[in-house]
Amino acid sequence: MEYVPNIIFAILLIASIGYFASNVKKLIRNIKLGHKVDANDHKPERWKNVVNIALGQSKLVKRPVSGFLHAIVYVGFIIINIEVLEIIIDGLFGTHRIGQELLPTSLYGFLIGSFEVLAVLVLVSVTIFWIRRNVIKVKRFFSTEMKGWPKSDGNIILYFEVVLMGLFLVMNATDTVFQTANSGNVISQFMAPWFSGFEIQTLHTIERVAWWLHIVGILIFLNYLYFSKHLHILLAFPNVYFGKVVPKGKLNNLEAVTAEVKLMMDPDADPYAAPPETAEDEVPAKFGASDVMDLSQVQLLNAYTCTECGRCTSECPANLTGKKLSPRKIMMDTRDRLEEVGKNIDANNGEFKDDGKQLLGDYITNEELWACTTCNACVEACPVSIDPLSIIIEMRRYLVMEQSAAPMELNNMMTNIENNGAPWPYNQMDRLNWKDE
Ligand code: SF4
Ligand code: SF4
Repeated sequence: MEYVPNIIFAILLIASIGYFASNVKKLIRNIKLGHKVDANDHKPERWKNVVNIALGQSKLVKRPVSGFLHAIVYVGFIIINIEVLEIIIDGLFGTHRIGQELLPTSLYGFLIGSFEVLAVLVLVSVTIFWIRRNVIKVKRFFSTEMKGWPKSDGNIILYFEVVLMGLFLVMNATDTVFQTANSGNVISQFMAPWFSGFEIQTLHTIERVAWWLHIVGILIFLNYLYFSKHLHILLAFPNVYFGKVVPKGKLNNLEAVTAEVKLMMDPDADPYAAPPETAEDEVPAKFGASDVMDLSQVQLLNAYTCTECGRCTSECPANLTGKKLSPRKIMMDTRDRLEEVGKNIDANNGEFKDDGKQLLGDYITNEELWACTTCNACVEACPVSIDPLSIIIEMRRYLVMEQSAAPMELNNMMTNIENNGAPWPYNQMDRLNWKDE
């Protein structure tokens, strides 16, 4: 009987980690549905981005209020979770505050004291976040794509954090051994008097309940991540590493098409020149993207990493002028479609069965795609180096090259370029007429 709690703890821990691992496997399988991209270039710059953007949150703090609060929650949450290590050892081996036994009192006190201060800072930050979302109603959290689950998800995580931090402090305040040692109880010592009338046995029960709820809450949180925008806690790092390191305005032209255009524009070009040799230069089986499988693995990783913060949409000139486009929705749609494809594969023994749907049309409309000015503001604004524009371009490429479905204005312009070598409807011979006027 003595070991029953430890056995229950071990089963819970293994089941939670196992379920999380199975979801991570699914996530990687889904991302691998995209085509591979070579990201072996610019390694020092990529690592620098990871340190500055993902770890240092340098783009996030460009909006100081939310950036600063997010940094507190991020640092607090990560650091406080170091304490989970002690909980796991205690839970598995039946010890009580193993750190207090093994570490010098002052060091243990310093660690737990810091965690307690951070827990309070996290509570304050999370409360401000909740007020911004639900009382002030910051505009970027209330566009059409933020209804239903995305809206609830944003709040659920805040409640989660309040509960976890609260349980951590209650656990410390009711732990008589910890309070008696009087080291590190910088915040909980002020909460301890709330429980002063309780019997020792009752205090012990409250402490145990808070301890169990705290660790169970953390394990639920771990498994909740896969279903939440908070997956970015883990994915922001690889996503920033694989982010764009070439100049932001540079588009990934198709080499085969570029060669054709150069041939067309250059009267001296040799039409019998050797065909492209590298795999990259070969004419692709399909131009652009109509579904998630046509996108790259980095674009699919982008979709899973999106934090739904809406900074991209709040800077998008198309969105700001009332067009239907929202770069955040582009990312959310891509992720939703990818999840749908993943579930389809799971239900059909590892094979994708045509479901008559695709990203283009069923999730993202032509109207959204053509509203984009390709200004790159969304890419610049994204705190985790997501590139919604690249997906828009790939889908437009599909519309133009596979379906000849560009808007009339564009078709006219492209015809003019083809016939006149310029976007205007004037014959090349008439170009210098203006000087005779
Ligand atoms: S690139 Fe397109 S989607 Fe991005 S901000 Fe500019 S107009 Fe909006
Ligand atoms: S793409 Fe980036 S900026 Fe836009 S909502 Fe997602 S995380 Fe935020």
